[in-house]
Amino acid sequence: MTEPFDSDVVIIGAGPVGLFAVFQLGMLGLKAHVIDTLDQAGGQCAELYPEKPIFDIPGLPSVTGQGLVDNLLEQIRPFEPQFHFSQMVEQIIPLPDGRFRLTTDAGPSFNAKAVIIAAGGGSFQPKKPTYPGIDGYEGTSVFYAVRQRERFRGKKVLIVGGGDSALDWALNLQPIAERVTLMHRRDVFRAAPHSVAGMRALVASGDMDLALGQITTLHGDGRTLTGVTAQRGDLTTFHVEADMLLPFFGLIVKFGPVADWGLTLREHHIVVDTERFETSTPGIHAIGDINWYPGKLKLILSGFHESALAAQAIAARIRPGGVPKFEHSTSSSLLQEKLRAL
Ligand code: FAD
Repeated sequence: MTEPFDSDVVIIGAGPVGLFAVFQLGMLGLKAHVIDTLDQAGGQCAELYPEKPIFDIPGLPSVTGQGLVDNLLEQIRPFEPQFHFSQMVEQIIPLPDGRFRLTTDAGPSFNAKAVIIAAGGGSFQPKKPTYPGIDGYEGTSVFYAVRQRERFRGKKVLIVGGGDSALDWALNLQPIAERVTLMHRRDVFRAAPHSVAGMRALVASGDMDLALGQITTLHGDGRTLTGVTAQRGDLTTFHVEADMLLPFFGLIVKFGPVADWGLTLREHHIVVDTERFETSTPGIHAIGDINWYPGKLKLILSGFHESALAAQAIAARIRPGGVPKFEHSTSSSLLQEKLRAL
């Protein structure tokens, strides 16, 4: 067995909130390892809406999901976080010396004096349709998220769904795709009214197609899609040409191993206090979308605040000498030193 990694703190989840926790810990002289199931940093921002603008990050009037993640990675670089991607934390085991041992499904283990769970909604996965043969098309013609908009330039794109993601991407890809068809089983949409109005305007002007029905068959060579057959409510069928298919049927949130860590939960969220953002197990903190407390708002800015207080509480508990004298970043000698060393 390989030796466990040793760290002051292990952060579970490299979403925006987990990333900012690296900064807050770093300002207090604490090192962090960050583990994520995904193969990249950024959580929902990078995975679900990398190119959509976010408008409510203080001081950034507009920043895309990926832009925010890139900025956060740049901001925490001085504190040299160690990332461990493509692995899911399965267990958190208290050790007799007060530390915690974390194990992942990829093999490595980690010893940490404190743990921050920044696991968002848990391991989230797209809800996949069950069209026969769809697996073979995934990654070439079928995608459950738009990571690079350019990939769809000049393509016949078929988007399936009636929610925000389906409508947003139909509107977003329409200017660059050869043709966008939006398919939904009925002429009623759950998406934001202005998106629905935008879609209807494009359909009325002949710049987008709206098809009401449900896909029954995929056509192609098993990897490259050429079109689909769909069925209307009256059981008649029709064909749609498409070389890219984007089914947006929502996400399945796999709360997964979090449920087994012995923490007090409330409807798939970890209950914390609002002073230390600590769970029912001292030394294990939970911040961002995964936690619950009265008045909780699932906003990135709330998670940032939570990370600052969790870091203070952790420093008080594990740092020899406790929390260092409070310093603003503008005058932090530790931060200036780190920035000079870059
Ligand atoms: P996440 O971003 O969910 O990241 C959690 C990470 O933890 C994931 O990468 C996951 O893979 C990982 N993880 C989970 N379990 C494990 C495990 N066991 N082991 C290892 N890794 C694990 N918020 C705003 O403030 N403003 C907005 O304008 C806004 N717009 C949004 C638009 C859309 C379309 C969506 C979907 C969300 C939006 N949000 C917005 C919400 C915002 O994205 C979330 O509040 C934010 O991402 C939460 O950050 P987080 O770091 O807590 O969790």
